[in-house]
Amino acid sequence: MGLELTVLGCAGSHPAAGRLCSGYLVRSGGTSVLLDAGNGSTANLQRFVALRDLDAIVISHRHVDHCIDLIGAFYALRFDPAVGGRIPLYGAAEVYDTLTGLMSADSSMAFDEIFQHTQVRGEDQVQIGPLALRFADSVHATPAVSTRIEVDGQALVYSGDTAGGPELVRIARGADLFLCEATWAGDAADYPPGIHLTAREAAQVAVDAEVRKLVLTHIAGGTDRDRVLHEAREVFDGPVELAEDLAVYRLG
Ligand SMILES: [Zn+2]
Ligand SMILES: [Zn+2]
Repeated sequence: MGLELTVLGCAGSHPAAGRLCSGYLVRSGGTSVLLDAGNGSTANLQRFVALRDLDAIVISHRHVDHCIDLIGAFYALRFDPAVGGRIPLYGAAEVYDTLTGLMSADSSMAFDEIFQHTQVRGEDQVQIGPLALRFADSVHATPAVSTRIEVDGQALVYSGDTAGGPELVRIARGADLFLCEATWAGDAADYPPGIHLTAREAAQVAVDAEVRKLVLTHIAGGTDRDRVLHEAREVFDGPVELAEDLAVYRLG
């Protein structure tokens, strides 16, 4: 059984022309999992899968460019008579409180009627249909996780937002496709520490983890995309691409 990754949104921090915020659809057989739900990404999701047909949602952290579309998804599902049951929602710490905090006081109970929330952290494992998920704690401004998804010997790893570190290398080890943030280009010393990766840093994680293919995402709006690609290719010898909204990758 193969695995298909569809990029729903790949913008860093805020949407841009033709580019929505972080969202990735992972499908295998009849199972569909949404990784992150940043600004606008669930609009692209519904080109492929109805919200009610998602088998699970994973939210890497509480920053709005990764979770805010679940507010709209909540209303869509609440008024959808064809919804069959609660959708499992696996969120890093503070995701649930952030989302329910944006809703009116009586709505957090309603939120629980739509989503079945479980908080996740590093080392947690979840099985969704044929997909085996494992998480690693990320280095970021808020609690955050990176996600590894395996099926039939194929491995996809999504970094989420991260400044890297040994846990990211460990969870990315040998991945067939490593979807890694590269928010910035140039010298890491020019940026605040502990939040994001530069292109070279992301590529170095790919080298250290010996991944097969690197796809860079979450490139900041003001960052030169060609420079990101060039700098990553200076470090990582394997195939490197920049994510684009609606791009599809198939494993297996
Ligand atoms: Zn982000
Ligand atoms: Zn973030």
